[in-house]
Formats: sequence, C-alpha cells, structure tokens
Amino acid sequence: MLIEKPSQHKGEYDWIDLWWSYRMDSPEFNCPWCKSDDIYPLYTLYLRTEESRGERINGVWSCKKCRKQFSPVKGTRFERTKICMWKWMKCIYLVEKYNYTIHDLMDTLEVTYKTAWKMKKVALQAIKENDLLGMVL
Ligand SMILES: [Zn+2]
Repeated sequence: MLIEKPSQHKGEYDWIDLWWSYRMDSPEFNCPWCKSDDIYPLYTLYLRTEESRGERINGVWSCKKCRKQFSPVKGTRFERTKICMWKWMKCIYLVEKYNYTIHDLMDTLEVTYKTAWKMKKVALQAIKENDLLGMVL
C-alpha cells in the first residue's frame, strides 16, 4: 500500500499530517534552486481556501541560504495541482484500497467530474509506479 489510512481519525488535518510525514521523509526535500537542506515552513496550508492560489493551498517553504520560496509539491507529481493535498492523499488511498470510481471520488471529495477523472488518472499512475511523490530528479 502506498498510503495507510491515518491511525486514529480521518479528517482533513490527519490526511495533511500524513502528507507532511511522507514529504519530509522523502530524500529530495530540499531547496529546489540551491539544494540547501536549510529550509523552513513560512506557512503550511489553508484548508478552506481552495479558490485561492495553489501555493497557498499546499503551503510555502523558504530557503535560508538563497531566500527563495517554494511549494512542498514542487518537483513531485502534484506540482501543478490546485487541489489541496488532503484530497490527493485520500483519493490515492481510496483508489488503491477500494478501487473508487470517478463518481465515487466526485461525491467523497466534492470535486467536479473533470477533476475526479484527472485525480484518478494521477492516482493510478502513482499506484502503478509504487511511488507516491513521483519525484522529478
Ligand atoms: Zn535555496
């Protein structure tokens, strides 16, 4: 399994916690410009503001060395997403474990058909590659 369900709860924040644990444990979590490991979060995410800009949804980190800012989804298969990571985590879990259909995903994640279709495609790719992040090195 790529994703195990959060142990105690399954609310949005639990999926987000899970995302951070995967992301921060990944070997490529460093500054995408200067590769420094000296990075820190400016702010993490805004769960209820999906209509705002993508980088705000998934958080912004900053590099102490070059002072540039970046999204923690940069370099991953989720780089261009405007969808909050809790939905991605839940989506991949539901597709992998229960083979959710596009219509199931629409209802559960409250997204449009088009979005659910795209999300399922990405989820299946991640499952096929057995790699959640799909880092572009
Ligand atoms: Zn840097």
